[in-house]
Amino acid sequence: MSKICLLPDHLVNQIAAGEVVERPASALKELMENSLDAGAASISVDLAEGGSKLIRVSDDGSGIDRAELALALSRHATSKIASLEDLHKVRTLGFRGEGLASIASVSQLSLSSRAEGSEQAWRVEADNGLIHEAEPAALARGTTVEVRDLYFNVPARRKFLKTAATEYAHCEDVFKRVALSRPDLALTLTHNGKVQWRLKSESPSERMRAVLGNEFADSMLQIEQAAGGLRLAGFAGSPTLSRAGRDAQFVFVNGRFVRDKVVLHAVRQAYQDVLHLDRQPLYVLFIELDPEAVDVNVHPTKTEVRFRESQAVHRFLFHSLNRALAETRAGSLAPNGD
Ligand code: ADP
Ligand code: MG
Repeated sequence: MSKICLLPDHLVNQIAAGEVVERPASALKELMENSLDAGAASISVDLAEGGSKLIRVSDDGSGIDRAELALALSRHATSKIASLEDLHKVRTLGFRGEGLASIASVSQLSLSSRAEGSEQAWRVEADNGLIHEAEPAALARGTTVEVRDLYFNVPARRKFLKTAATEYAHCEDVFKRVALSRPDLALTLTHNGKVQWRLKSESPSERMRAVLGNEFADSMLQIEQAAGGLRLAGFAGSPTLSRAGRDAQFVFVNGRFVRDKVVLHAVRQAYQDVLHLDRQPLYVLFIELDPEAVDVNVHPTKTEVRFRESQAVHRFLFHSLNRALAETRAGSLAPNGD
């Protein structure tokens, strides 16, 4: 047997990247989440070849000090938590300090930023595990991250990337999730130089219309319920509006897009009486609860959560939605109130 030895950092990052950066869309998610955590009011995304050639995310957030630029690219380096206690009540989307390090280990990455109150912007580049000295950069404010040639140094992985059209579609999904979760943000997305989305800061219902279309917006039911420390807000599609696939089901827990069995099951049950089994309802739901009542550190991609009291969450969701849907049904069946 060979001797046991510690793996070099660069390799450790590449191994982590296997989980965190499955495809261009996952890198885009990490970058956009960083922009949100930095308090950005506007984010613009440029992609080339479905993101496999280029992903550029620019924001007007708080920026990063020159002295911390290289650190931001290091593994386990984060400004978002400092203790186990912080981890248990995390309010930011990121906290693991591995997004940038992972992406940088499998791409050509450059990070430019101008920290709030600083007179000059600076840029660092990562090149196969090596982080170069910071150089002055031209940037009015915020942060711009450029990721080129994802997986150029891991051919086995690059082979798994699908066509540019497919990878673009996944990137667009990530973009839409951010757009739905934050109507106050101004957002643009370009692909191969062509503008695909340009969204101005708007009201939640305007944003639903812009992203999900008129049919949904014309019939959607606004939901707002709170009980026992739980809050449910958002929009539920009318049962008459349904699809065969699950492409229009969005659930956010404390602002984070998640796929959660407990939530899906509760929602499904609430729709059960009013929807055929083979049809999928459309909805955009925001669940808010004390961060200490939900564990987000389940998987590196953070799309899974664990509710401390999952039965209470299930009950609350089911009843809130069921009531809202029953009201519309009663309304449509008995317009005169009898
Ligand atoms: P995490 O988001 O888990 O902290 P990352 O590797 O994604 O880890 O980022 C490392 C650190 O770099 C962040 O904690 C943050 O301080 C800084 N950072 C990254 N992106 C941005 C950004 N767009 N604006 C400001 N700071 C950023
Ligand atoms: Mg991050």
